[in-house]
Amino acid sequence: AWAPLVMEGRPAAPVAATRVDGGTELHYGLLARQLLEWLGGQEGCVVETGRRVTALRRDEEAWRVRMTDVATGERMTHRARFVFVGAGGGSLPLLQSTGLPEAAGLGGFPIGGQWLVCDDPAIVSRHVAKVYGATPPSSPSLGAPHLDLRRLDGRPQLLFGPFASWTTRFLKQTGRWTDLPWSLRPDNVGTLLRTAVRNRPLVRYLIAEGLQRMERRMDALRLFYPRARTADWRLVEAGIRVQTLKPSDRGTVSFGTEVFAARDRSLAALLGASPGASVSVNIALQTIRTCLPHLLGSGEARARMSKMIPMYDVDLAQPAQAGLYERCAREADGVLGLTRGDR
Ligand SMILES: Cc1cc2nc3c(=O)[nH]c(=O)nc-3n(C[C@H](O)[C@H](O)[C@H](O)COP(=O)(O)OP(=O)(O)OC[C@H]3O[C@@H](n4cnc5c(N)ncnc54)[C@H](O)[C@@H]3O)c2cc1C
Repeated sequence: AWAPLVMEGRPAAPVAATRVDGGTELHYGLLARQLLEWLGGQEGCVVETGRRVTALRRDEEAWRVRMTDVATGERMTHRARFVFVGAGGGSLPLLQSTGLPEAAGLGGFPIGGQWLVCDDPAIVSRHVAKVYGATPPSSPSLGAPHLDLRRLDGRPQLLFGPFASWTTRFLKQTGRWTDLPWSLRPDNVGTLLRTAVRNRPLVRYLIAEGLQRMERRMDALRLFYPRARTADWRLVEAGIRVQTLKPSDRGTVSFGTEVFAARDRSLAALLGASPGASVSVNIALQTIRTCLPHLLGSGEARARMSKMIPMYDVDLAQPAQAGLYERCAREADGVLGLTRGDR
């Protein structure tokens, strides 16, 4: 009854699913804007937007962050003792500009993500859920397919995907077809070639996915929603992820996300497939622990962290912590105004 589109039209046979009752949508773009606005008002903090960082260079004491004003073309340089590179597909080229020996050999290949979208209110109103299937062994690159209700600019829509597509751009909005060729260096060509040779089925899969027709995509959707009609769905290019390849991976592709840290801890970068906006707090914590551990050293700092994150430093995988998790989850539901069972 909670996922009628998924169940209707299915041959009578038992279907197993795990249902998580809690959950809500969160507009991370809006949240990020609010946090940055608050940050900009703090003493000693400035938020600058509309700048494209063109290179990161290290001198004796600090990083020189070179940038260009996107509107005027004016060039400028800032100095920073610590730099965090969180530029999505733009992170790899910036990391390559640092000249750090530990960044040598890093390469990346972009994978586009396409989604099927349905706007028909009569259909959308019948799916108030996010339903995941198992990751098909043939398509590890994009993870498990899912059929979700989303609100984009306040308008409810159904999204199904992702489907992989072939691209050489690293960024959806501002990327260029030259991004991939420009990222090639004598020290990473070997890594990329080795990965292509060791992952021929993956390369074939990516090309086939990109070339497949609408009806084949609809067949994938009908595994979730058997009565889906092609006329109700359209295909959109939703984003690009840049899969980072390291020489130490020896040609295997892990599809994970990782925080890269310079040996002297003066720079960190978020690299990997699709980090997921929802892991941003975890990534910030990982970066602080690795590069700025002194910030967490005092008792006062630990007390503040525990106040902000009640499960800070607690291993929730331990069965003994189940009670704490349950308490925190209930409290969060209360703060967000979610009561179990009415979603
Ligand atoms: C359709 C879709 C649905 C998704 N759903 C979810 C979800 O439900 N939950 C979830 O957790 N995640 C979801 N994701 C994934 C999530 O959107 C990404 O993982 C997340 O946006 C990555 O954030 P980021 O800040 O690291 O990179 P990005 O969002 O790519 O942002 C990087 C920014 O850096 C800028 N930039 C790049 N290079 C430079 C440069 N040289 N100088 C200045 N700026 C630069 C870019 O313009 C961009 O604004 C979804 C993604 C898509 C496409």
